[in-house]
Amino acid sequence: MTDAADLAPIREAVRALCADFPGEYWRRLDRERAYPTEFVAALTKAGFLAALIPEQYGGSGLTMTAAAAIMEEIQASGCNGAPCHAQMYTMGTLLRHGSAAQKERYLPGIARGDLRLQAFGVTEPTSGTDTLSLRTTAVRDGNHYVVNGQKIWTSRAEHSDLMLLLARTTPREQAKSRTAGLSVFLVDMRQARDNGLTIRPIRTMMNHATTEVFFENMRVPAENLIGNEGEGFRYILSGMNAERILIAAECIGDAKWFIDKAASYARDRVVFGRPIGQNQGVQFPIARAYIGMRAAELMVREAASLYEAGKDCGAEANMAKHLAAEASWAAADMCVQTHGGFGFAEEFDIERKFRETRLYTVAPISTNLILSYIAEHVLGLPRSY
Ligand SMILES: Cc1cc2nc3c(=O)[nH]c(=O)nc-3n(C[C@H](O)[C@H](O)[C@H](O)COP(=O)(O)OP(=O)(O)OC[C@H]3O[C@@H](n4cnc5c(N)ncnc54)[C@H](O)[C@@H]3O)c2cc1C
Repeated sequence: MTDAADLAPIREAVRALCADFPGEYWRRLDRERAYPTEFVAALTKAGFLAALIPEQYGGSGLTMTAAAAIMEEIQASGCNGAPCHAQMYTMGTLLRHGSAAQKERYLPGIARGDLRLQAFGVTEPTSGTDTLSLRTTAVRDGNHYVVNGQKIWTSRAEHSDLMLLLARTTPREQAKSRTAGLSVFLVDMRQARDNGLTIRPIRTMMNHATTEVFFENMRVPAENLIGNEGEGFRYILSGMNAERILIAAECIGDAKWFIDKAASYARDRVVFGRPIGQNQGVQFPIARAYIGMRAAELMVREAASLYEAGKDCGAEANMAKHLAAEASWAAADMCVQTHGGFGFAEEFDIERKFRETRLYTVAPISTNLILSYIAEHVLGLPRSY
């Protein structure tokens, strides 16, 4: 595991980059529901979005701990990593299961910033969290697969060149096992758009560039199948641990931002002739949020360290995501309360960050499903669904 001293220069560099993207920038985009193109370009140019790409392909070959530190600092600086975090968390699937030819073909372009891998198509409107019941199909036809179906909440699809797509290649009733029969494809959306791929934006409570996508006889070259046909669910699951760890790190960054903001306001704001932070009723919630954040941070580090050692980290990645999402949401609520009326004013950025961080107890996996995972896989309780 990378130690804290090694990461200090990376953290400082991310902070310095983020300083060029202050609250006004994010407020304007939030009002217009516009994509932070300049911010993503700056992160790409500085090499941060290629953190997990090995050096032989032009990336910086950093560890999961370092990648988590990058995402955490983005959020702790008041910026938003959601428009570009997928490039980090989809990387594990390509690195661990992609062929040498696929890595050679795509990774250098992604590292340079010529190609964006920001879209991850798993969730469907009718299957929800029950991924195994997804209905999008990919049927082999000569040197291609023909894809039909629909995905929902495919974030950043309009701002990505590539999509990692999970589709069914063997009908469920013919599959060898419950988890077999799904396959992962790297879809080149530049070719597919208007050739069977339609993208429709969904406006949400925060600025997230999310969409629904429709596939109608979309042809994907067979060489874009990742790993073996029918084993895609396993590949996606291992990638989901990376996603959970990185998003947990973002939540830690958010929590730090809310706690800093609240503590600083509580020190300065004078009511009844003294700083509001002198009242235990104001300082205790800030202290409680800090304790929750620090405990969650330890679990995020543990999960990242297991992940980079190649060990099973399903339980830790889930627990890290759960604790960190709860910590950031508790800190967000506390921050609004500490600011009183000003917590609702757009110019303080709190209400924007409050809306943004709310997502993470629902996506990429909701609280109940994490609790079910721990109950079943760690505690040996009967599967509940
Ligand atoms: C802004 C946003 C961006 C997203 N980005 C992406 C993306 O880029 N790619 C992608 O593939 N997906 C994406 N998602 C989808 C996200 O991963 C799902 O919304 C999330 O996993 C929850 O699934 P669902 O919405 O279908 O909820 P459902 O599965 O319908 O569940 C609804 C509620 O019921 C609960 N529930 C369901 N089953 C059980 C059970 N057995 N026991 C107890 N409780 C249960 C859940 O916990 C949840 O609270 C995004 C979602 C949002 C909102």
